[in-house]
Amino acid sequence: MKRTELFTKTSKTTPAGEVAKNAQLLIRAGYIHKEMAGVYAYLPLGLRVLENIKQIVREEMNAIGGQELSMTVLQPRDVWEKTNRFDDAVVDNWFKTKLKDGTELGVGLTHEEPVVDALIPYVSSYKDLPLSVYQIGPKFRNELRAKSGILRGREFVMKDMYSFARNQAEHDELYEKTAAAYTKIYDRLGIGAETYRTAADGGYFTERFSDEYQTLSDVGEDTIYVDKAKKLAINKEIYTDENLVKLGLNRQDLVEEKSVEVGNIFPLESKYSDALDLYYTDERGQRQSIIMGCYGIGVSRIMGAIVEKFADEQGIVWPVAIAPFKICLINVGTDENVVKFTINLYKKLQEKGVEVLWDDRVDVRPGEKFADADLMGIPHRVVVSAKTLAQNSVEYKARTSEETLILTIDELLKKIACI
Ligand code: ATP
Ligand code: MG
Repeated sequence: MKRTELFTKTSKTTPAGEVAKNAQLLIRAGYIHKEMAGVYAYLPLGLRVLENIKQIVREEMNAIGGQELSMTVLQPRDVWEKTNRFDDAVVDNWFKTKLKDGTELGVGLTHEEPVVDALIPYVSSYKDLPLSVYQIGPKFRNELRAKSGILRGREFVMKDMYSFARNQAEHDELYEKTAAAYTKIYDRLGIGAETYRTAADGGYFTERFSDEYQTLSDVGEDTIYVDKAKKLAINKEIYTDENLVKLGLNRQDLVEEKSVEVGNIFPLESKYSDALDLYYTDERGQRQSIIMGCYGIGVSRIMGAIVEKFADEQGIVWPVAIAPFKICLINVGTDENVVKFTINLYKKLQEKGVEVLWDDRVDVRPGEKFADADLMGIPHRVVVSAKTLAQNSVEYKARTSEETLILTIDELLKKIACI
């Protein structure tokens, strides 16, 4: 894409009333637009990042047999009454609305009940199970505090998967398979090294732990105790000696860290399936309960967490896998040969399927273009000037390095292919 075709601009000033670094930088670089506290629109650059994250999540959910669907935002009250969750005293952060005739509706904050309800016509026999369904879409929560930018939205994007198994052993298998997929997802997103499977409270209907996926960050709301060698952690909320024994962790191996919850997985036993009357008939014709699990990933929160974790003085630093563009191509000056060379390179990169943003603005100084590329966090910067042209080369710099290299086009293509 050409920079002159992108309607967003960058800004040097910190947006008023925005205290979170992730939102400050994402707004300044033109990724998001603040509608109100905790509610942000995704502009073209921001949408590209969000879609890249979604795609990685989608591929890994498909790889373990997840079937994608899309549930509704508007939800009828009756399915929620079956589990008593429509009651504000039970779930206190619902947004609710009303039909013209006064009928109350929920605005989707999670989807256990509607998903179970949607499966009723299709699941009745042992032959219909096991089964996992997931969606990636908006969730709405009336969060009390919404000062953390896109880390805690009132409207945000989540991936939620729900698994349905015939017995506990089958459930455990699905659960661990999903846990392994989560590890892959965080690795691919570039945060695997600092993201820990963390034992946490399982909720009131199970004796089991749930597992949170916590990524280290000073701005995190959670405190966890990490065993770096075992790559496991325990949430401070359940940090008792008894639980350490259950998890095989030793107090002296643990380090206290601040972290952001970027996903979590829950054993649900048969709380929701029983309540909504979803059962199956086994081989012997006996009616059996269905064991469920639910598996969330905070898609938009991950985008914010990555900004928080990797940003430097100059701005955002995206891992290559989710960057809106892999390369920012900059021509210095308007010399005819420089421009011609740049256009050819731009076309060649596009033909190779490399996502490139060509900063083709003619009235902007090179220094300003460099600062913009840094603020936007584009992983690779490629500069064409009269000087590089004399060597039939380009100047290359990685966003995370101070070093500049003079490379031929072939060398550049090789470099980009292996990063
Ligand atoms: P938290 O403990 O942070 O309030 P939660 O335990 O209520 O989150 P879930 O309902 O299980 O979270 O949602 C699954 C995932 O969605 C969470 O792990 C988190 O990454 C993300 N998430 C939850 N609430 C928000 C929010 N308000 N804004 C952005 N992401 C969120
Ligand atoms: Mg939580």
